Amino acid sequence: LFIGGPGVIAFPVSALLVCALSCNLFQTSLLTLAFSLWTLLGIAFGNIAMPFDTGSTIELLSLRLGVASTALAPIVVASVMAARERNLALMRHLAEHDPLTGLLNRRTFHQRAQALLAADDTRGAPAAILMVDVDNFKLINDTYGHAVGDAVLSRVARKLRESLRSTDLCGRVGGEEFAALIPHSTPAQIESVTRRIHEAIRSEQLRVSDPHADHLRVSVSIGATLSQGESDDLRSMLHRADLAMYAAKQAGRDQTRML
Ligand code: GH3
Ligand code: MG
Ligand code: MG
Repeated sequence: LFIGGPGVIAFPVSALLVCALSCNLFQTSLLTLAFSLWTLLGIAFGNIAMPFDTGSTIELLSLRLGVASTALAPIVVASVMAARERNLALMRHLAEHDPLTGLLNRRTFHQRAQALLAADDTRGAPAAILMVDVDNFKLINDTYGHAVGDAVLSRVARKLRESLRSTDLCGRVGGEEFAALIPHSTPAQIESVTRRIHEAIRSEQLRVSDPHADHLRVSVSIGATLSQGESDDLRSMLHRADLAMYAAKQAGRDQTRML
């Protein structure tokens, strides 16, 4: 208003572009709408002086087209930003998850488990690590083929995820190996959650394309360990859970051992 002249129509564009970079598409569109209305009304009521006759049809048409074109810039930038955000979220999801089972991949499981353990209040109940390994999985692959093997892995992963709370971490840390971190656990809770996992996986009847695999039953062996105070770290906990899992295998599979 202070400088005046036809150029004032474009003055707020820089501010709108900053909005497009920092606000979402809807907010940017609202601000742009407010800018366009304000400009057109300002001109109509004579608050923004134009050096031409605003009553002339052709001048008015040019003015409105000018305001509309100016308003397009922030909306285009906000749309590009929204598409970029969507793609970034998709790429982040792909980088953090295992494509077959949808669980966290090994690297992300380790990162998040480490962060959870570091933030965990050691005066409260300790965290537990479960190491879950599918029993005789090579035999399933060799008997029914890799496609059936893959179906088994994704069913086991789903059952495992469903048996845990949403605050527990769960990841695929190897071919047919999964790990879970359960914050604030007691031995009794670990016993109950591992029983739930065994039952859920045992009861899962696989309906796969191979007719012989119709009655395929799967089981897992689980190694569990509880955090042993502040000096304990993820590496040692995973190692103990691994040893406990091998003890469960040696004891006949389809069971849990704690260490
Ligand atoms: P155990 O009960 O002692 O654990 O025996 P196992 O047969 O389950 O263990 P082993 O380590 O001998 O075999 C694991 C197999 O898992 C071998 C490998 O080919 C298979 N495997 C690993 N990743 C995948 C996968 O993504 N898809 C399929 N279909 N198979 C996989
Ligand atoms: Mg294994
Ligand atoms: Mg196995």
